Amino acid sequence: MNIYEIIELCMKILSKYCLCDYCLGRQFASIGAGIPNDEKGRILKTILYMHAHSIFKIGYIEEALKLMKCLAATGFQPAVQFLEMQKYEIPQKELCYICRGILNRDKLRELSVKILKDLEEYEFNNFLVGARVPTDVREREDSIRSEYMLTTGEDIKEDVTRVIGRFLVKETGKKVEYSTPDIVVIVDLNTDSYELIVNPVFIKGRYRKLVRDLPQTPWICRNCWGRGCQKCNFTGREYPESISELIGNISVEVFEALSYKFHGAGREDVDAIVLGTGRPFVLELKHPRKRNVDLKKLEEKINLEAAGKIEVSGLEYSSRRELRILKSSSPIASKTYEAIVEFERDVKEEDLASIREKFRDIIIDQWTPTRVLKRRSDKLRKKKLYYVEVERLSEKIVKFKIKAQGGLYVKELIDGDNGRTKPNIAEAINNKPLKIQLAVIEVENVKESSG
Ligand SMILES: [Zn+2]
Ligand SMILES: [Zn+2]
Repeated sequence: MNIYEIIELCMKILSKYCLCDYCLGRQFASIGAGIPNDEKGRILKTILYMHAHSIFKIGYIEEALKLMKCLAATGFQPAVQFLEMQKYEIPQKELCYICRGILNRDKLRELSVKILKDLEEYEFNNFLVGARVPTDVREREDSIRSEYMLTTGEDIKEDVTRVIGRFLVKETGKKVEYSTPDIVVIVDLNTDSYELIVNPVFIKGRYRKLVRDLPQTPWICRNCWGRGCQKCNFTGREYPESISELIGNISVEVFEALSYKFHGAGREDVDAIVLGTGRPFVLELKHPRKRNVDLKKLEEKINLEAAGKIEVSGLEYSSRRELRILKSSSPIASKTYEAIVEFERDVKEEDLASIREKFRDIIIDQWTPTRVLKRRSDKLRKKKLYYVEVERLSEKIVKFKIKAQGGLYVKELIDGDNGRTKPNIAEAINNKPLKIQLAVIEVENVKESSG
């Protein structure tokens, strides 16, 4: 399409349909990039006005007036003034055929100012503007495009998001971000309203658990299912605190978020402690008002308030992507445990030697442990055991260091769970464990460490 064809097309369209600057300019969005649609529409109308004026001067009065009236009906002021000066009848201003006045500079500006005011409540580094457009507007635009075989236009929502987006960039100094914006503004042109979607902040770190009988997440009373009963002292809970609350509650306060979700890279038994470098976790903070928090200070605050119970370290900003990796990689993460086990009978030196030798780089076949059968389906797992180190603390008490693939149930590796875990240590040395105390001393996230 050359420029003469464009002008002729505009003349044809406007003689049949009254279009605002945005809706006329938008049909040629891909020609002459960098000029906003409303400006382009106004330029096209200016050219048509010049054409009408010039043919009027050389005597094509009727043709000129027809075009002048079309332009005046769209609200193009020079045409209105021309008709006024020449004492011709001025047509009523009509609503734009496509958008029915939705695209209106003043209205969009008013909306932008409101959005800006709302955004002031939030800390954010980037944003994105989206828009919902009434279907009938789209339908009218589509019909015009097919009638004139127009292929150079763009979607009407681009006009809205561009106008509001540019305003917000200028006023806030923040950038537009397409893939992972902190805040998404969705403008609804059906109702002239908007909605702010404040995306969560993700932080990651590791926790060490220093006490037993502290679950990772809140654990409701198994007797009353949270309603409160004598058994749980009317708290509705099996344990008064949890790791996720010790970390999450303070973080919610600091980020001024509405709520949080705790994601651990697997979990330990409630009576196991976690030492060494600790267990990785990601904390998702929903609808935060703050985003640029000093995580070192947050870490100190958590550790101060949870002193003696847990310790967090290495807090860093994370992302939904990293959360996905954390979740998907937990089956292949390896874990190292320390177990203090008291046996029924004396443990001999040759027992220790045989454990060291047998339990090295083997696959353990493990049916779902009896103690979790109520919550999990019964199935056979095959997990890799890397090594078992042994040290005798007294005749009957042995300290084990066990490194295994994530997901291996270590208690059952030791006591055998009535033969449901094979091979197992109890059977190998023909001795029954009476008491097992577990501590996780290292959690290795394979995918994480390999990048
Ligand atoms: Zn319009
Ligand atoms: Zn209860």
